[in-house]
Amino acid sequence: MGVMTTTTTEAPTLSPADRCDRCGARAIVRAVLPGGGDLLFCGHHGRQHAAQLRQVAVEIHDSEGALADA
Ligand SMILES: [Zn+2]
Repeated sequence: MGVMTTTTTEAPTLSPADRCDRCGARAIVRAVLPGGGDLLFCGHHGRQHAAQLRQVAVEIHDSEGALADA
């Protein structure tokens, strides 16, 4: 007891309404940041930032395997 718990939400899934923060294309990569914010990327920009995302993100949702070989 006494341990502060944070509300864990279901892993957010990407919907067609989610857009890449960089270019506005449909996002297929979501990177969750330590502060709780998140970044959305299309495959192109997800790959472009893959190395950086893996360093900073606490969780990466890669729904279509866009970063698999990035
Ligand atoms: Zn993009």
